[in-house]
Amino acid sequence: MIFQKIQSDKFEQVLFCQDSQVGLKAIIALHSLALGPATGGCRFWNYSTEEEALHDVLRLSKGMSYKASLAGLNWGGGKAVILGDTQKTKTPEMLHRFGEFVERLKGHYITAKDVGISADDLREIKKKTQHVLGIEGDAGSSGDPSPATAWGVFFGMRACTQFAFQTNRLKGLKIALQGLGSVSYYLLEHLIAEGAEVIGCDIDPLAVERAVKKYGIEIVSSERIYDVDCDLFAPAALGGAINQDTLGRLKCKVIAGPANNQLESPEIGYEIMSRGIVYAPDYAINAGGLINIYYEEPRQGGFNRVQALEHVSQIEKTMTHLLERAREDQLPTHVVADRMAEERIQKALRTQLS
Ligand code: NAD
Repeated sequence: MIFQKIQSDKFEQVLFCQDSQVGLKAIIALHSLALGPATGGCRFWNYSTEEEALHDVLRLSKGMSYKASLAGLNWGGGKAVILGDTQKTKTPEMLHRFGEFVERLKGHYITAKDVGISADDLREIKKKTQHVLGIEGDAGSSGDPSPATAWGVFFGMRACTQFAFQTNRLKGLKIALQGLGSVSYYLLEHLIAEGAEVIGCDIDPLAVERAVKKYGIEIVSSERIYDVDCDLFAPAALGGAINQDTLGRLKCKVIAGPANNQLESPEIGYEIMSRGIVYAPDYAINAGGLINIYYEEPRQGGFNRVQALEHVSQIEKTMTHLLERAREDQLPTHVVADRMAEERIQKALRTQLS
């Protein structure tokens, strides 16, 4: 069963790591090394079954391959999961042992932060391996990825509005922003500076208060956000925002925002297309944070924010290309994004073979 899965999705390597003395159970998945080291965060999660953990690490590492490829990075996709309960089982010894397993991969896998792993945890892991990036607060770190993600989303939105409204200026456009967390907070700065009209929502009153205080935006309830009369709907909260229940309620011509896994199912992407809505595939538009951290890698010569943000702004060009191709091929944008990402990986593999 496992080989069937990793063969059909073309995984290079999957490692099961254990040390019962320190209570470590971890899986490291290296989806692709064609473009460069397999890179992706380590998630610490209390999975209800081992199958669930395996499913998660495979899904996430493949997603990282596509995201890095489409963003033009010379990175492959990887991911690690440590199976455990944060409150009870996470110890420095366990993290050290995990670091030793990462070290054995000799840089073919680079780890970073994900759900359940803090900057301090990464520091523990780093005691055993150099192949760690994104330790916020450390010298040479690229810091909080949210501003870079927001910068990329802003440029991705410009490509989408050019397509839908024949202008990449957001001035005067009505934007419904679902979720006013970290990325949205930075995104608002660009949207308001451009003269867009933003209507936001959040389930957290503090997030609402912060956005209203700084930007004076209009607020609706989280339930009402789908019914707002708007030009662009920006999912910036949790996954699955676009589903059978919500799509029909949207009045926008563009869906573009930072949230991961926005489509509840791939079929929804086809329905978005049939409704004539321009959809920015999530991993294409939210790659800014990943691009930012890429410039932290030693072979890039030390973190350079200007260079990183310049690369992030290229999301506008990539998105334009993607939207044009989707129109030509009469395919949903999420399908075209996968194809473009796969093509770059396949090209790199052919070059290696020749
Ligand atoms: P965040 O946790 O800071 O913000 C999310 C906000 O959404 C929170 O304020 C939360 O209260 C709100 N929210 C949750 N459910 C909601 C609902 N039903 N209706 C309205 N608001 C709701 O997260 P973030 O870092 O801003 O990331 C936002 C999204 O972008 C997430 O899906 C994340 O995975 C994705 N993303 C973030 C980054 C990054 O650099 N932070 C990078 C890539 C993708």
